[in-house]
This record gives sequence, structure tokens and C-alpha cells, in this order.
Amino acid sequence: MGLSLLVLNSCSKNKKAATDNPFLNDYNTPFNVPPFERIMAKHYMPAFEIGMTEARAEIEAIIRDRQEPDFVNTIEALDKSGDLLTRVSSVFFAQTSANTSDSLQNIEVEISPKLAAYSDEIRLNPRLFEKIKYVYDNQPKYNLSEEQQFLLENLYKGFVRNGANLGKEEQDSLKSINQRLSVLSVKFSQNVLDETNNYRLFVDKDGLAGLPESLISGAADVAKASGQEGKWAFTTQRPSIFPFLQYSENRELRRELFNAYTNRGNNGNEYDNNAIFAEIIKLRAERASLLGYKTHSHYVLEPRMAKVPENVFSLLNNLWERAVPVARNEVVDMQKIIDREGGKFKLEPSDWWYYAEKMRKQKYDLDDSELRPYFELDNVRDGVFYCANKLFGIKFTPITGCSLPHSEARAFEVKEADGTHIGVLYMDFHPRDSKRQGAWCGTYRSHRMLDGQSVTPVVTVVGNFTRPSGDLPALLSMDEVSTLFHEFGHALDALCNRNTYSQTFVAWDFVELPSQIMEHWATEPEVLNIYAKHYITGEPIPASLVNKLSKSRYFNQGFDNVEILAASLLDMAYYTLEAPVNIDIQNFEKEFFMKTGLIPEIVSRYRSTYFLHIIDGYDSGYYSYTWAAVLDNDAFEAFKEKGIFDQSVAGSYRKNILEKNGTMDAMQMYINFRGHEPSIEPLLKNRGLLQATR
Ligand SMILES: [Zn+2]
Repeated sequence: MGLSLLVLNSCSKNKKAATDNPFLNDYNTPFNVPPFERIMAKHYMPAFEIGMTEARAEIEAIIRDRQEPDFVNTIEALDKSGDLLTRVSSVFFAQTSANTSDSLQNIEVEISPKLAAYSDEIRLNPRLFEKIKYVYDNQPKYNLSEEQQFLLENLYKGFVRNGANLGKEEQDSLKSINQRLSVLSVKFSQNVLDETNNYRLFVDKDGLAGLPESLISGAADVAKASGQEGKWAFTTQRPSIFPFLQYSENRELRRELFNAYTNRGNNGNEYDNNAIFAEIIKLRAERASLLGYKTHSHYVLEPRMAKVPENVFSLLNNLWERAVPVARNEVVDMQKIIDREGGKFKLEPSDWWYYAEKMRKQKYDLDDSELRPYFELDNVRDGVFYCANKLFGIKFTPITGCSLPHSEARAFEVKEADGTHIGVLYMDFHPRDSKRQGAWCGTYRSHRMLDGQSVTPVVTVVGNFTRPSGDLPALLSMDEVSTLFHEFGHALDALCNRNTYSQTFVAWDFVELPSQIMEHWATEPEVLNIYAKHYITGEPIPASLVNKLSKSRYFNQGFDNVEILAASLLDMAYYTLEAPVNIDIQNFEKEFFMKTGLIPEIVSRYRSTYFLHIIDGYDSGYYSYTWAAVLDNDAFEAFKEKGIFDQSVAGSYRKNILEKNGTMDAMQMYINFRGHEPSIEPLLKNRGLLQATR
């Protein structure tokens, strides 16, 4: 959509801004990618402001329209509104993640509350809701396609779930619950942070036995920074505590550090999270009931693939039954090591990492540095391209002279086998100060249909992978290789989507299927043979290494599963409580794990008072890691059955999953692809949990 003339003519300042602001003009670039070299920090704010003004005017026009509301004049019109705002937002937020600066950060601080207020203004607009509700209630009149019905349903439900159907008084209660919740959750996470930062385990030289050099030198720095030069300090942050637990030969110190870790937020001091956590659980139950849901979990799961708590419980309990015996076997194996070494004690939770490391060495003996020479970054990238090509015929051609989001990024044109343009893919792989941590896939432009034509996507894969250094090219770890395949899977999803409307609704617990499934190809011997070539000799990776790699995936699976399932079940237990909820957190947790049968050698991956996930966005959602694993293992099984590059399976996967994601019910999409609901068996098999009893 072009610019609203109304806005431009009404304000000469905006007119001037429009003349040199790339967001307010056609991009005029190859493939219409954002003209990054012309976009300056000063262009964002005016584009945001004009974008919001335009969008408001468009929505006002929908509301004022005197015609009877229908799908086109209401839902489609709403979907088309805010074009400029979307255009500037997508570039801005992709850049603040991958290539930020002080100016961008300042703009972020300024624009974030404005965008939040703007989105509230729409989501809580009663006149707009009235129109949407009218269309929703009169659906049969409009002869809607499946995609249109899905859009309407989700749009309507979104308003309802925000309280649009409530009376004035109830809406006020809802607002005050939401406000209180936001205060509590900020306080909760600050407490976890403070408890983590306030704790130090100081040790003398004799407390360092068994620790790797890198950990020791880091610990010396921490001690020095804490005013105790000459000592060593360990913290409850993951990069400190877990290597310590893994390598420290001092059992007492392991126990002390572990206890500090598992009691964060539970020390009866000013940072105690027990009361805060209990109030959050109570308020969320209350809010669910206010909105007409049985529990918070019912509210959360409604738009997801899982739909109801029973489905989540059935998955988690099924796996739990399998994983606990495997973990028990692991305890037996580790106890043998303890006995053999003459330790006269029983394995405790804080001993697990130490003895698991001994098991790992004994059983698999796989060293990261043996693998890296076979994982040169460019080869791995060509490996993912190879897979996409073999599966879908898609081709990737480097684009030279293309406008880039950062000078280190590379651009590729993505084409069908017949040469049809699909989109543009950026890849931006190495760490730098202007980039946040982790790896992700983002979009500078998403697919949709406009006047019957595809608006082609501009997608970016961003990582913080090992840099080349000296004569060495970038040699990746196995983890980094999987991450690259993973993010590329998200990119394929974004590139292949055939959605008509700009708003799509991808089920939250379905998002990781297209990404996690790609990780399976990364370790298939047939694929490794293609891309895992020694960076000097060009020799493909030896079969013995591939073999070790494949065997090592069963390592510590009992523990890994039990630990994460315990946390997932705990999350579900809290959020399936019906209002009114008044619980004592420590008692609840203790009784719950007793009832569930958690073995004494394992502590839940998170305990309540520092379980940040289920305060911040993963509430009644921690299960999703396991859910997604069921999906990707079962979906990949479809390929395994017929061949990992079988064309009919690949075609069906593309048509039913990648093209449709976000435009129809996730379970239906899955069944259309697989012929049945996802089965848990492939996951059990791949995790070595299939025949587990002793
Ligand atoms: Zn992902």
C-alpha cells in the first residue's frame, strides 16, 4: 500500500520527512529488499509516527463505515491496515537484534511504550470489536474459505481473551489483575537475579581439584571482582555451577553450591519468592475464571495445538513412566562407580553431573575437538542448502551487490527448481557487540498476497557462531551445526508459507516443528557424507566418528527427561488449579513430587521460586519443548519410512505444513501430512526410552 495522501497533505513537516525517508518511499532495490545503506537512525521515529497515524485513520475508517459489516470491509480491511507501521517495525526490530547501536536503543526505549499503547488501543477498542463480533456471529452469510474462517476465529478469540466480552466492572477487575501480575512478575525475576548475583562460593586452592583451567581462571576473576583476590569464587549461574558440578572432586563443595542453586528465592530474606509466586498462581486462576475458563491452563492452551490440559498430561505422564526407570538404571550405573572407587555414600542430586561425566567418558569418549575440523561453516551452510534442494528442489544463489543488513551478512536469492523467485535469505553468522546472544530466524518482510500477487519474503538467519581465527576457518561444534540446521528450518517455513493475509496464527506449541525436524538431517550419515568434509584434506567424516556421534545421543537420557518432565509437570500442576487458589508453595511442591514419584537423586530442572519460564511466557507452556520433540521425531519418521529425501513425503510436508503454517488448525495440518495424530513412539525410540525396565 502507498502512503495515505491525507497524512502527507495535512502536515508539511511530514511531507519533508517523506522526501528522504526510505520507509516513506518505494525501496527501489533488487527484490525490493530494505535499502539498508540509505536507512538512518533518524528515519525510524518519523516512520513509526506516520505509520501509527495512518493505521489509526484506517481503523477509524473501518469503524465509521456505514455499510453492514462483512468480511471484506472489516476483517480484510483490518488485515490491510498499518502497512507502513509493519514495514518500519519489521526492519527496526530485526536491526535492534542483529545490528543495534546507541541511537537504535534509545529509539527502542521511546517507541516501545507507544507501540504497546497503540496495540492496546486496538485490542480494547469496543467499536471495532462490535464490528468483528458482528461478522463472527454472521459467518454463514459470507461463504468464507477455510483460511478466512481461521483468521476470523482467531481474531475474534483474541479480543475475547483480552476481555472484550466482559462488562465494565469485570473489565476493571481484569485490568487490575493484569497490572498486579506485571508488578509481581518483574519483582519475581529481579529477586532471582539478585539471589543469583548475591551468592558466591569462595574456595582456596585445595577446593579446585578436578576443575578445568578455563573454569579456574574465570573463578579467580570473579573472586577478585568480589574483593577476595587470591581466592576462587563460583556462582549459581549456569556457566559456573554446571561445569563445577561436572568436574569438582570435592563432594561437600558440590553439595553446597547445588543447595545454593536450588534454594534461590527460598531463603526467607527480602528476595524470597514464595509469597510472590503463590500470588501469581492465585491471580492467574482468578483471571481465567473471570474470562470463563476452568483454569489458567485451559485459557492458555485453547489456541494451541494441545488445546486442553488432558492432552498435555497424557503426553508428559506417558514419557514420565518410561523415563523414570531409565533414570533409575543410570543411578545404579553411577552407584557402581562410587562403590568401585570406595566411596561409602549413596548418590545425591548434587553428585549427578560428576558421575555422569565419568559415565560419558567410559561409554562414548567423544571429543568436540575431533569433530570440529569436519564442520567448516561454509560446508555446513552448503549442507543445509543441499537438503532443501534435495527435498524441495529449492535453489540458493548468492546475490552480489545486494543491500545488506550488516556488512558481514550474505544474501541469497531463493528460487524454485523452475527458477521462480521465492524470496531473499540473509545469513549473518558471527558474534559482534551490536548483536544479541543466541541464534534466531527473523523476517524483514513476510509473505502475503496483495492483489492476487505474492509479496515475497525477506528472511534472515542470525547466529553467534565461532569466527574464523588466524589461518583457521570457522569450525563449528556439533551444537552449532544443529543450531544452523534448526534456524534454517525456521527460514524454510517463512520462505515457503503461502498465507493470503498478513496476520497468521501459528500455534505456539507448533512453532518448533519446522526447525527441529531439520536437525535430524544434520546427523544422518548420508547427509554428513555430503557436507562434513575435513577443512584441510576434504576427506568426508570417518564412519567411526559418525558412529560415536549416533551412540552418544542416548547418554544421560533418563536424567535429561526426568529433570525436564518434572518441571513440566510442576508447571501444569500449578496452572490447573481452580480458583480460588491459596497454597503454600514449599508444601505444594514437596507433596507434588512425592505423589509423582520423582526419584530422590534428581531435582526438578527448576524449582518454583526460580522457575522464571512459568512466570514469563511459558506458564502452562514448559511442556512445549517435549511436545515439539514428539512432533519433530514423528514427522521425521515419515521420511525415515520412505527415505529421507523421498519426494512424495517432502512434497506433502511442504504443501501441508510449510505452506499452511499459521492459516489452519495445527493438528489438522499435521494429520493431513502424516495421516494420523503424532505418535510418541519415534521420540521414545530416538531417546532410548522404548524398552526401559530393569
Ligand atoms: Zn527455534
